[in-house]
This record gives sequence, C-alpha cells and structure tokens, in this order.
Amino acid sequence: MRQAHFQISSPDPGPQPRAGILLPVPLAGAYDYKLPRGAIAARGTLVEAQLGSRQMLGVVWGAAEGTVGDNRLKTAEPLADAPVLPKGLCDFIDWVADYTLNPPGAILAMALRSRGAFEPEARRIAYVVSGVVPPKLSAARRQALDVASDGLARSVPGLAEDANVSSAVVRGLIQSGALMPTELPEFTPFRAPEANFAAPILNDDQAQAAAALRGAVAANKFSAHLLDGVTGSGKTEVYFEAVAAALATGKQALILLPEIALTVQFLERFAARFGTRPAEWHSDLSQKERRRVYRAVMNGEAKVVVGARSALFLPFASLGLIAVDEEHEQAFKQQDGAIYHARDMAVVRARIEQCPVVLASATPSLESFVNATNGRYAHLKLTSRHGVAAMPSVKLIDLRQERDAIDAEQRAQWLSPPLRDALTQTLVAGEQAMLFLNRRGYAPLTLCEACGHKLTCPHCSAWLVEHRYRRRLACHQCSFEIPAPTACPACNAGGTLIACGPGVERVAEEFAQFFPGARYAIASSDTLHGPAETQGAIRAMAKREIDVLIGTQIVAKGHHFPQLTLVGVVDADLGGSDGDVRARERTFQLLHQVSGRAGRAEKPGLVLLQTRNPEDAVMQALARGDRDGFYEQERQYREASAAPPFGRLAAIIVSGPDGDAVRHVARELGKAAPAARDVKVWGPTPAFYALLRGQTRERLLVQAARGIDIQAYLKAWLKLVKAPSAVRVTVDVDPVSFF
Ligand code: ADP
Ligand code: ZN
Repeated sequence: MRQAHFQISSPDPGPQPRAGILLPVPLAGAYDYKLPRGAIAARGTLVEAQLGSRQMLGVVWGAAEGTVGDNRLKTAEPLADAPVLPKGLCDFIDWVADYTLNPPGAILAMALRSRGAFEPEARRIAYVVSGVVPPKLSAARRQALDVASDGLARSVPGLAEDANVSSAVVRGLIQSGALMPTELPEFTPFRAPEANFAAPILNDDQAQAAAALRGAVAANKFSAHLLDGVTGSGKTEVYFEAVAAALATGKQALILLPEIALTVQFLERFAARFGTRPAEWHSDLSQKERRRVYRAVMNGEAKVVVGARSALFLPFASLGLIAVDEEHEQAFKQQDGAIYHARDMAVVRARIEQCPVVLASATPSLESFVNATNGRYAHLKLTSRHGVAAMPSVKLIDLRQERDAIDAEQRAQWLSPPLRDALTQTLVAGEQAMLFLNRRGYAPLTLCEACGHKLTCPHCSAWLVEHRYRRRLACHQCSFEIPAPTACPACNAGGTLIACGPGVERVAEEFAQFFPGARYAIASSDTLHGPAETQGAIRAMAKREIDVLIGTQIVAKGHHFPQLTLVGVVDADLGGSDGDVRARERTFQLLHQVSGRAGRAEKPGLVLLQTRNPEDAVMQALARGDRDGFYEQERQYREASAAPPFGRLAAIIVSGPDGDAVRHVARELGKAAPAARDVKVWGPTPAFYALLRGQTRERLLVQAARGIDIQAYLKAWLKLVKAPSAVRVTVDVDPVSFF
C-alpha cells in the first residue's frame, strides 16, 4: 500500500469525508468510499481502493450518494504525489459511457490503460566529472575522463563504451572521486516539434483550407471541419498546418489514424515537416513506452500524439486540435469490449476541450458529408491533386458480355480479355499494374462435387477458405485450420472437392498463366502470409522490382507508386448487396480509394472495374468520376429510408455458448420491447455469423426517428429482461457493421 498524503490534526475529528469513486471495472457506476480525514476529494483525484479482495486504482468521480453507516464503507487512499486526471477526460468518459451505454468504469479502464503511469518516476544514477584529479592517472583513466569532460551524464557501462575502456576503469574513477554520481530522470524527454521546421509552399486551395484551420485553432473554441479532398491533394499537408498553429500557441494536438495507416512512413513524414517524431500511441507499444507517453501527455510535454482510436482516451493537459485522417474508415469503430466510434467521439472530445476537430478524407462518411453540406461542419475542399498528376479514367468491363470469351478460352476465369489487353499494354510500356480483389487466400469455398457438402468451420458459421500455397483450409473468423483434405469429409469420395470462386492467390495463378515472364507479388492482410511478406511485396513494388501487385484491401490505401498506371478490380460487385445500409457507401469508398492508386505521377492512370452490374448507381458514379453525384443520391436514399444520419439505429447482440439460452433471452427481449412512437424493433434473428468462435449469436435492431432519445429507450428496455451470466447482451449504438 502506498503512502497517503494527508494529516490528522483536528482535535474533534468528526466523520470521515466521503466520495463516489469510479473503478476501472464494468460496474454500474461510482461507489461510495470514505477518504482519510483532511483529504481533498477533487474530481479526478487518483486513489487506491479495495473492491472485494482486490486492491485497485480508482478515481474520485463525485460526491458520495448513499447514506450507509461509516462502518460499512471502506477507506480509499489518495495516491501520494499523483497528478489529477484532467477534468476534460473525466467529462469525456461520462459522455462516452452515457452515449454508448457502457458502464463508465469500462470506459475509465480504457483511459487508465498504462500500468504504473502514476507511480513516481524512477531515477537512474549516472556520473559526471567532479574536478577531482585522481592520484594515479593511467592512459585508460585519462581517456575516460577526456570523454566525460563533455559534461554529459553517463552510466558506468555507457561511459565505458563511449571511452572504449573497461567498466573497472570507470569504477576506479568513481572510487577515487574523479567521477561523481547524479540522478537522471527515468524517461528521455520528448523533443518539441517545431511549427516552422519545414513548412511547404501551399497551393491556393490548400492555403485557403489551412487559413481556415489556423483561424479555428486561434479561436480557442469548438469547431468541426470536413477536409474533403481528392486522393493526393495534400490533406495531410493542410492539417499539418493546423498542428503547427496549435504548437505555436503552446497547445497539444492529437492525430488519429486508422490502425492500418499508422506506419513508420507517417512518422517520418511528420518528422520531415516538424523536425522530430511525434509521440505514438497504439497497441504495439511496450509497457515502458506506454508509461512514458501517458505521463508526457498528462504533463503537457508531449505536444503531438499520433495514435489509433484508443489515443482519444489519453489525459491531455491542454488539447488544441484533433485531426482524424481517413475519417470514413471502419477501423475507427471499436467492435470488441466497449463499442464506440472514435471519429464520432473525437468530435465530442473536441467539444468538451473547446478546440477544433478536423476530419479528413477523399471519400467522407455520409454522416460527415451531410454535416458538411448542411453547414454543421465547415466544408474545406481540395479539388485537384497536388502537382501535375490528374485523376485516372475509370472504365467498366461488363462481365456478362465477356462471359462467352471467358468460357471459350477455358483457361481464363477471372481476367477478362479487355483487362488482359490492358495488362499487356502496361507491361510493354514498362509501367506497373495492380490487380485488386478483396478476398484472401485461393478460394472462398470448397465444395464436394459428389454430395454437395461445403467445408465449414466447426466454431463459426463460415466457410473454410483454401490457402493453396500452404495446402490448408482456414477459417477467417477464428484460428481454426486444417490441412487441405483429399477426400470429402462427409461422403468420403476421393478427388471430388472443388475450389469455388477466386481469392487473390487464384487470380495470381491465372495471371502467371497468361503472363509467364511478368514479375508479380501477392499482398494480403493475411495471417497466413504475415505482415512481413506483405510489406516485402509493397516495398518490391515501390522499388520496381516487380511489375504487378496482386492484393486485397491492404494495397487499396495510402501507397504511392509513381509508375503504377493500371488498376484492375477483379470483382467490383463484392460486398455490394448484403442488405447493410452502408454497403453501397463502402463499396464506393473502397473502389474509389483503389482507383486513386493509379496515375499518381506524370503518366495518366486507367482503372478497369469488372462488374456484372454496370448499370448500378455505384458503378456508374465511379465510371463518371461523379463523386458528389453518388453522395447526393446516397443522401436521398438514406433520407427516404430514415437510415442514418436521418434516423438512428442501435443493435442488440445476444451471445453465449449455449444456443438455447441465447435464443431464449433474445426472444424474451423481443417480447419485452416497449412500444414507443417512432421506434421500430426488428428481430430477434440469427446474426450473419450465427455462430462465431463457438458463440451462438442473435441480433435485434432498433430503428428510431432522429429526435428520439434512443439511449433512454434502450435503458428502459434492457432493465426488463434479466439474462443469466452465461448469456451476454451487448449494445451497439450507431452500428456500422451488421455481422
Ligand atoms: P492526401 O493526404 O490528400 O492524399 P498528401 O498530403 O499525402 O495528400 O499529398 C500527396 C503528395 O503531394 C505528398 O507526397 C505530399 O508531400 C505532396 N504535396 C502536397 N501538397 C504539397 C505542397 N504544397 N508542396 C509540396 N508537396 C506537396
Ligand atoms: Zn471459425
């Protein structure tokens, strides 16, 4: 137990003070504790508190509420010398908990995810020259003292290494008094990024957008901005100007990136602009680095944090700007544990901190687009690529017309003649191409020709995906894998299993048949290939060691290959029709992003989309390059169907290992749904993955008019049904996926 800093001095001590303490566990709310006499119980004060038999960190959240006797309350001990969690963070935690219907303690747990962050900083002992000249001055000693005379404090091994002497020599100097000890902080301090280190010369569009953002930062109050610019238009350069403005006023800035975009390249780009790397925050940090960043954010030393969604819960001392890059990305929605959308919550945090938020994308979410067109957000537009690059031309290949050609040749199943012709021309011209298919592995389904049996995962309602190179079948929802069988497991017939449909490996196989000499590689976000192989493929493409990159959505975003002039989308219809309100938007966003890889330098780009629905509005908009037309149509469609953002949705997912128990609770919930005007409840129905990692899953969907307090409705409803402990009831407010 830590030492508490309080005094017991009053002659008549009276009752101990009390406070509501929030603990980082999913309980209903704050619990009452006693505090030591004289303790200051400000909101945000960190305490040690006991819950059951566990000792844990807690936070003073508000006044105590109960009236139980003193003897029934435990005492929480304030941490000695610990900082207080900033008020903005505490208010944010409450807001997120209320909105997402998560227990506030579950949200607090995300904000305290840095073990030991509040413990006093450890000290390191290092040595500096004292001025005392030792009696015996050997050559080695002289050498060590020479190096140490620069005044830098060094550890024993550090000085030994720098001076190229043994540790014994250094210790001898310490003993003789020639070196004296000094204390260094445990953590290397963060260098401050320099606002004007290497500012670019902006073009007119960029300058206008940057001026608006600088003004917003200077205004010191909440404002929201959609930075809406085509791929390669310089959105990053523009929001960097806003970061520079925040730095100039001494405030902190937070840049949120979807996890996939959080790369060394981005950190280096930041360093090139600001002279030093920013602080990073994501799931790959070591405990120690986590502690270092957390403390530096809280004491204001870390001026800029670049992070994944969880960085939103850091204790910023003085936040002056939040930027959300690729704001339309689904990766911002956390689906496990506490479900929340980091882009939406970034806007909330900015409002609480009274600072601007900028959302950047070439293909904004419809929500942000509507907010920008109706004036709730400022709409900053960058309409052309920076420099000479033009937008690529997009053409549709009607697979229905090409079917005869494809069948006649037998060999060709996935690459139509027009796409092959374009590939030939690109390779002849010495340029690069990319083939895109958003499906990992060789084939998504393996089927027995004799009995019709489909190979599925025993733990998930999902097909097993063939990975031919590794001769395995794998479930993409869990870690289940088997060696590819030679006989059907259902009817035992041999040689009857056939691969149905293509994955990237199969497209690559066909490509190699047609272009035997071409150099190509597969890049796939695949646990079976591994991130190293994927990075290798991307590097090979950048260095022009290969001509064709065949990949899944991992190649769709961010990469800049100047010689890439052709993008072929093998199946543009994938994922277009699964009844999800955002399916069209997502298809558009993904294909637009993929298309954006072509022709990013001087040479013009061509994008070919293979589709069976060339009349479809999404395909038409892509072919015409009519992004705004697509958004307008999508807006009308959503408005007509009262879909978000014109109506509200919430999903309830009931899950557990016992199917009958799950279905029972789901049915009870369905029956208990209160009748309310402008609220509709659908379900329960089995979820898309009715079985996922061994859990049976049922879903209910609530659709409500915009003005409805959907949280109040859900709270009242969920109270009516008690689920046994083996059945989980999860709420997803504003769901973005419907699996
Ligand atoms: P976006 O984020 O919109 O895709 P980027 O900010 O990545 O665009 O810019 C695309 C490329 O153009 C980058 O290499 C960037 O450094 C360069 N660029 C953009 N604007 C400028 C500018 N004003 N001066 C110099 N280079 C620029
Ligand atoms: Zn599985």
